[in-house]
Amino acid sequence: HVKSGSKNDFLIFNKTIENQSIERRLLESAMRTAIKENQFYLEYQPKVNLQTNKIIGMEALVRWHHPDLGTISPGKFIPLAEETGLIVPLGEWILKESCKQTKKWHDIGYTDITVSVNVSVRQLEDPLFIDKVKNVLMETKLNPEWLEIEVTESILADVENIVKILREIRQLGIQISLDDFGTGYSSLSYIKNLPIDILKIDQSFVKDIHQNEESSAIVQAILKIADSIGLQVIAEGIELQDHVLKLSKDGCRFGQGYFFSRPLKVDAFEQFMDRLLVTI
Ligand code: C2E
Ligand code: MG
Ligand code: MG
Ligand code: MG
Repeated sequence: HVKSGSKNDFLIFNKTIENQSIERRLLESAMRTAIKENQFYLEYQPKVNLQTNKIIGMEALVRWHHPDLGTISPGKFIPLAEETGLIVPLGEWILKESCKQTKKWHDIGYTDITVSVNVSVRQLEDPLFIDKVKNVLMETKLNPEWLEIEVTESILADVENIVKILREIRQLGIQISLDDFGTGYSSLSYIKNLPIDILKIDQSFVKDIHQNEESSAIVQAILKIADSIGLQVIAEGIELQDHVLKLSKDGCRFGQGYFFSRPLKVDAFEQFMDRLLVTI
C-alpha cells in the first residue's frame, strides 16, 4: 500500500528537476547574451620556477561578470557551456584573447612567458578546431612555442580520436599538458602513449603533501615516472611555503598557486611581473 507522503515526494522531486532545468535554460540564454556583450574576461595566474622564483608563464582562466548576478565562477558555467556546445565559440574567444595578450606582453618586454589555455574535449572534437588554432596564431602573430594547451583526463573517453588531434596540435609546435593529473581514471602506463609534454599534478595531492605520507608518495611516483619518460611536471594548488619546500626537495621544478599569486587581471599581472623582476 502507498503511504500518503509518497505522492507529495514525487511532486517535490518533479518540481526540483523542473526548477533545475529552468535555471539551466536561463543560464544558457544569459551565456549567449554574455558572449555577444563581452561579459567574459580572462585572469592570468603565474607559473613559477620553484628554484629561481622566476615566472615561466601563466594560465589563462575565464571569468564571467554578469551585470545583475555579479561574478559567476567557471566551475558553474563551464560544465553547462560544455553540455550546450557554447564552449566552442567561448573557447575560441578565450584562445584568441589569451594569445593576443601574450603577444602584447612579449612585445612590451615581458619576454619568454608561455600561456596555458584550458581546452575542453568538446572543442577538440570540433572538426574546425585545428584550423581555428592556426588562424588564431596567424592573426595574433604569437609563436606557437609560447602556447600550451591544457586538457584533462576526460580525453581518455574518446582516446583514439583525440590522440590524432593532439598530434596535429603538437605538430604546430604547441605544447600539451595533462591537467588535474591523478584524479581521473588514467593509469601511468597509459601516459606513455599519449602525445603530451607536461603533467600537471592535481592540487588535491599538493594540499597535504607536507604532512601526508600517501600524497607525498604519489607525487614522488609521478615525478619519477615523468622523468623516466621525458615529461615535464608542474604542481598546482601551492598554498604554503611548506608545499614549495617539499616539492623542491622531491625534484619538482615548476608550480603555481595562491602562495605565489591568485589569478590576476591584466594590470595586476603586469604589476606582479614588475615586482618579481625587481626582487630577482
Ligand atoms: P583548472 O584548469 O585545474 O584550474 C585551476 C583552478 O584552481 C582555478 O580555478 C584556479 O583559480 C584554482 N587555483 C589556483 N591556485 C590555487 C590554490 O593555490 N588553491 C586553490 N584552492 N585553488 C587554486 P578556477 O579559475 O575557478 O577554474 C576552475 C576550473 O574551470 C579550471 O580548473 C578549468 O577546468 C575550468 N576553466 C577555467 N577557465 C577555463 C577556460 O578558459 N576554458 C575551459 N575549457 N575551462 C576553464
Ligand atoms: Mg588548467
Ligand atoms: Mg588543474
Ligand atoms: Mg581543475
